[in-house]
Amino acid sequence: MTAAAFLTDLRQRGVRVWADGDRLRYSAPRGTVTDDVRRELETLKPRLLELLRGGGTAGGVADDAVIATPTARTAAPDRKISLTGNERLAPLSIDELPQHPHPYARYVAPYRSALYGHLGLDKRFVRGEGCYLFDEHGDRYLDMVAQFGALPFGSNPPAIWRALIEVRDRGAPSFVNPALMDVAGELAERLVRVAPPGLRHVTFANSGTEAVEVALKLARSATGRNGILSTSNAFHGLTLGSMSATGREVFQKGFGAPVPGFDRVAYGDAEALKSALSARPGYYAGFIIEPIQGEGGIVEPPAGYLHAVQHACREAGVVLVMDEVQTGLGRTGSMFACERPDGLGASQAAMAPDVLVLAKALGGGLVPIGACLYTDEVYNTTFELWHSSTFAGNTLACRAGVAALDLLEADDRRLIRHVAESGEFLRKELDGIRTRFPRLLRQIRGRGYMLGVELGLDGESLGCDLLVHLAGQRLLLHLIVSYLLNVERVRVAPAYTGASVLRIEPPLIAGRDECLSLVKALERLFEHLQAGDVGALMRHLVVKGQAQPVPNEPDARSANRRRSGRDRRRAHDVPGATRFAFLMHLLSSRDYADFDESLAEFSDAQLADLHQRMSRFVDPFPVGTISVQSPAGGKAVGELVLIPHTAEELMLLPADRALGEVRRAAEIAYARGAGIVGLGGFTSVVTQGGMAMTGPGLPRLTNGNSYTVAMAKRGVELACLERGVDLAAATVAVVGAGGIIGRATVLLMAQHAGRIILVGNPALPQRSEARLKEIAREALEPIREPAGDRRTFAAGTLARRVTELDAGLGDPLGQLAADDRLVVTTDFDAMLPQAEVVISATNSIDTLIFERHLKENAIVCDVSRPFNVCRDIRRTRPDVMLIDGGTVEVAGEADLTALGGAHERYVPACVGETILLAFENADDLPGLFGTLRLDTIQRVEEFGRKHGFEVVLKGDTWDLGDTSHL
Ligand code: PLP
Repeated sequence: MTAAAFLTDLRQRGVRVWADGDRLRYSAPRGTVTDDVRRELETLKPRLLELLRGGGTAGGVADDAVIATPTARTAAPDRKISLTGNERLAPLSIDELPQHPHPYARYVAPYRSALYGHLGLDKRFVRGEGCYLFDEHGDRYLDMVAQFGALPFGSNPPAIWRALIEVRDRGAPSFVNPALMDVAGELAERLVRVAPPGLRHVTFANSGTEAVEVALKLARSATGRNGILSTSNAFHGLTLGSMSATGREVFQKGFGAPVPGFDRVAYGDAEALKSALSARPGYYAGFIIEPIQGEGGIVEPPAGYLHAVQHACREAGVVLVMDEVQTGLGRTGSMFACERPDGLGASQAAMAPDVLVLAKALGGGLVPIGACLYTDEVYNTTFELWHSSTFAGNTLACRAGVAALDLLEADDRRLIRHVAESGEFLRKELDGIRTRFPRLLRQIRGRGYMLGVELGLDGESLGCDLLVHLAGQRLLLHLIVSYLLNVERVRVAPAYTGASVLRIEPPLIAGRDECLSLVKALERLFEHLQAGDVGALMRHLVVKGQAQPVPNEPDARSANRRRSGRDRRRAHDVPGATRFAFLMHLLSSRDYADFDESLAEFSDAQLADLHQRMSRFVDPFPVGTISVQSPAGGKAVGELVLIPHTAEELMLLPADRALGEVRRAAEIAYARGAGIVGLGGFTSVVTQGGMAMTGPGLPRLTNGNSYTVAMAKRGVELACLERGVDLAAATVAVVGAGGIIGRATVLLMAQHAGRIILVGNPALPQRSEARLKEIAREALEPIREPAGDRRTFAAGTLARRVTELDAGLGDPLGQLAADDRLVVTTDFDAMLPQAEVVISATNSIDTLIFERHLKENAIVCDVSRPFNVCRDIRRTRPDVMLIDGGTVEVAGEADLTALGGAHERYVPACVGETILLAFENADDLPGLFGTLRLDTIQRVEEFGRKHGFEVVLKGDTWDLGDTSHL
């Protein structure tokens, strides 16, 4: 048995297997892993490990690897990694993450490292100097993030280092709290001197969030009130208090936040604040606000808002806390953003907050420190006596703070004036890009060196479908950041809470050259986005060392099916048409090139790499639309929804995961307007023909198998006519007779063939044969039922023999077996060569039927996808007639381009069924999913006749090599 088949079988028995480094682990229901299974696991281990690691062979397998003992922990080889903000996806457990060799990834941030690794963002920076970072290969990157403002003077500023070294040289003590701390006192005095008027006290902290906690405690202790009001979309840190004030649920969920006492009002809406304050007089202790929201996507409030806020807080006796952790100390082109509340150009009064929170830049880019400044009114002894923090106010950090202020204040604040001017310059340059790409660059926000670039990542602005889907799944922004980092060597940050904002926060020392480098990089980026050049955006992920991609040999068939996104997106305006959808999966990662021409340049290995990265994130997405209008008046328009996994991957996923993928695809199709959804390829197999798809939010489903069975029979009938074979006297072998399609094929063929061989899975002979016997018995029921099918069966058929036996009151099953007319077997080699007709309909992804299995002049109908019959027999066995019963030709007007077939009117029978059901609005037939029914098979076949559909016997129809979908 192949490793894939073995895994599939184990999965069906509830055994989960996964790779843990070079070990193979499993968890299984008691008793399922017998000695035989263990031996098989040992034998197949190298291949299993390859499969479970995603098909790659890299790394090899250690000789001494062992199979671990069963463990209770369940794990899966492939589950979606959730990008920030994608609340739908539960995080993976640690077992499920790909192994990353770096100790930081192993011990500190396994999840993020896996995420960043897939996106090419897992850089190791080994050196930093000014505005530049260097990786271990010596490559230089322009840092336009500056740790969100914490590197005001870039990396390793010499002046700050000098100040720190001086502390060492002087032998000053660092941690002597409580005592009269010289440098803490000196820094506090300097801060009070530069701060807005009225701020006379300082409490030190070690981070932004800790300084925010100080502010919240001060507001409560100063007022004796409890309530804290903050704004929507705010970010104030991630400890419990600051997180409760942070205005996005995604940060709070699961952490018991917000804690009681925290409320929010809309940012920028002074009236909302006033009414919240007047609704609960005497309740709120403080109102905390960022003068420009940073994490929230660089959002400035309207002019006049901050003054109105100050006024409202004064009126209500509420402490106004200005959080300048990010905006403070020069970032926005003034020492504090609240000095210029309405922007740098406007004439306005500076604000006088009651509390001012600082951190980030205060450490000069080398040490962590936070500070909270406040007025006499806010100062209270309770706070002073009962608040402390071991490291707060330490000598080293405060010395860095003093040195940072020295640099900021030097030469009449020259650096801050430079930020105001260069920020204006950068903004103008970005405005220039916006006039070139108005749809892609929607808005530029912020001031100084705190800018946000709002991108327009939607179908209107992006040049191709694949980019639109990546954007829809919040992936494109990360890909853009990855492109800028790896190709343009410019580091910018995505706004983690705004799905389409790039944050640009260079070190304050960045000059025009740095600004222009960024501008040029963004221009090239927008050119690629506008052209829909996915290849340009992804090349760095799969082409190592920036070499040119190695193109595959030109392949006529794949060239045939390459179409641009625009082709696929073609309008299908068919008034009065019923909408349906069809779910598909990848056949191989080569299919990505089919979805976007710009990926065609990549080799198979590169596309496989891309697929491994993408399938970790990407939800199912629509890849095209087809439409058919039949001569009998049927009208149907359907979307093809792709699950980004191959058949093999779907089979290897734990059952619930595979089911989840298909369910998600069906939900997406339903939400997009499809009333009936066909389950293509292995989406049907992993959902047990659709039976496992239950619950709300799902459309009507069909596994498309009824028409597949009908067309297999029809194909065999036509082939027999062509070859002059008398079906009524012929032996028909049904391979995979225990499966959904195989069973129904047996039921149908039992009425038309002379002799039936039911062929089961040789890996499980006993179970298989028992099931096949049941199916054999079932096949006789409609034949024996007098009230049922009253047709007289053709002379010589097995069915006719049954009616004769019945008349003689014999035991038909035993008698037929004794007559050798109804055979149950798992022996391919012995039995298949006896059949004039072989129909293969298994779930196996392997080639099962070879030259040696086929009788001379046999007719072979292979409805499995991927095919079970070895394709070579077309060449090696010209006597054999290999037909593709799985394909039908539609009649009338049809646009099936998106299906990617070589013939413009051919559809797989399962798609044909979905179209027919849409034509007839007949989604309520019994047995459309799960177990098939003969009456429904016949109804669907009638629909096909009515609308002019016919089975295709020969021709260049779908097979593994020349289609992407089924
Ligand atoms: N407040 C604001 C406005 C911030 O931007 C941040 C961090 O980005 C914080 C508070 C929290 O600072 P820290 O990350 O040092 O805890």
